[in-house]
Amino acid sequence: MLEASDLMVFYENNLALNNVHIRCDRNQIVGVFGANSAGKSTLMHALSGIVLDMQKKEMMAGGERITVAGSVRYQEKEVMTVSPSRRAKMGIVLCPERRRIFKESTVLENLKIGGYLASPSQARETLAYVFEVFPALSRLKNRIGGFLSGGEQQMLAIGRALMAQPKILLLDEPLLGLSPLMQAMLMRTTREIRDQRKISIIVSEQYARPVFPIVDYAFILENGSAVLEGTREALMDNPDVRSAYFGV
Ligand code: ATP
Repeated sequence: MLEASDLMVFYENNLALNNVHIRCDRNQIVGVFGANSAGKSTLMHALSGIVLDMQKKEMMAGGERITVAGSVRYQEKEVMTVSPSRRAKMGIVLCPERRRIFKESTVLENLKIGGYLASPSQARETLAYVFEVFPALSRLKNRIGGFLSGGEQQMLAIGRALMAQPKILLLDEPLLGLSPLMQAMLMRTTREIRDQRKISIIVSEQYARPVFPIVDYAFILENGSAVLEGTREALMDNPDVRSAYFGV
């Protein structure tokens, strides 16, 4: 479904991703785990195409040089040079780190903005689905985004991404700063969304523990390189992974 190979990203001379290979098959949940600065967001930006916009912006501003190389294939097509907005239309939708909801707009407005790629009937159906899967949002429809709690903002960010009709959803550190209870709820709901909507999902996080129960397969990034990968079961059985990422 989505596969990156030999992926390299440089910020000037700083190598942020080094020959990364990662893939996510149809209907899979794939985890990407790594410490601060391991390259998780850079990977999400390369998969969604945002890195191309960053590259252009920096070039126009005379800022740092961003170099991208390698391949990103989606449904058997090379998309490395395809713009992020085209990729979103094709079904690759990013739910960015730190949520980035529209803080001045209401919950309902945020969701409607997310649905700009959808037909009116798709938007109506998806809106009803978002309220079904996140009942809290339904109660907060008219609340201003900036007044929501962190967990509610994350639900809204996922809901808004769903409104864009993803075939593959990229969740960049969705659990950052949330309580363990909220983290568990969001991960359960993420799995439910995969099961009910048949969406593939790549989720990045610093800590594997709260995400691990829902992943089918995972990659571990260290300093821009994918150093380990495997099915959930295989990684759980690996003593190095258990001690480094689960503290057991
Ligand atoms: P975090 O958990 O802190 O979000 P991350 O795993 O998402 O970390 P990235 O944000 O992808 O890591 O960063 C990877 C490396 O690239 C880091 O060394 C970071 O400093 C550098 N980097 C990221 N974005 C830029 C940028 N726009 N300009 C220069 N360097 C950057």
